[in-house]
Amino acid sequence: MRCPFCANDDSQVKDSRPTEDGGAIRRRRQCPACGARFTTFERVQLRELTVVKKNGKREAFDREKLARSIRLACRKRPVPSDRIEQMASGIARQLESSGDSEIDVRRIGECIMDALHEVDEVAYIRFASVYKNFHEADDFVKAVDALGGLLPDGTPELPLPAPPKARGR
Ligand SMILES: [Zn+2]
Repeated sequence: MRCPFCANDDSQVKDSRPTEDGGAIRRRRQCPACGARFTTFERVQLRELTVVKKNGKREAFDREKLARSIRLACRKRPVPSDRIEQMASGIARQLESSGDSEIDVRRIGECIMDALHEVDEVAYIRFASVYKNFHEADDFVKAVDALGGLLPDGTPELPLPAPPKARGR
């Protein structure tokens, strides 16, 4: 695995163990060139998924991007990081099991909303309010960035928009 800090081609595995839910293997790695330490996760992938973006472009499904969106929505909310990982894995599994190899990006947003709705109402409303604008956004990345922009460092709480009546399906 290439070092994300200095781009050295190799890194050494220092420790390898299952995550708490047993759904992944966590490996602690160290770069022999710059000494940086980082962690990688090995997870089951049932099938390759392609995300079809709003502009028609396609990109490989990225579980980490999905987890990042959920993390942003849950920021400063009492949602344990394990729970966030579970949501991301659950959604990934659901999409992988759906039988479609191409996934409309809107479907991912809807899966995230469904998952958040059950876990934390505030996180759900945050995500839903960004998601509504997402229909005008170019792609999921912009929606995620917009979500991040709503929650700058040091913001104790967001002023909450009115809860959306419909999910806009
Ligand atoms: Zn390095």
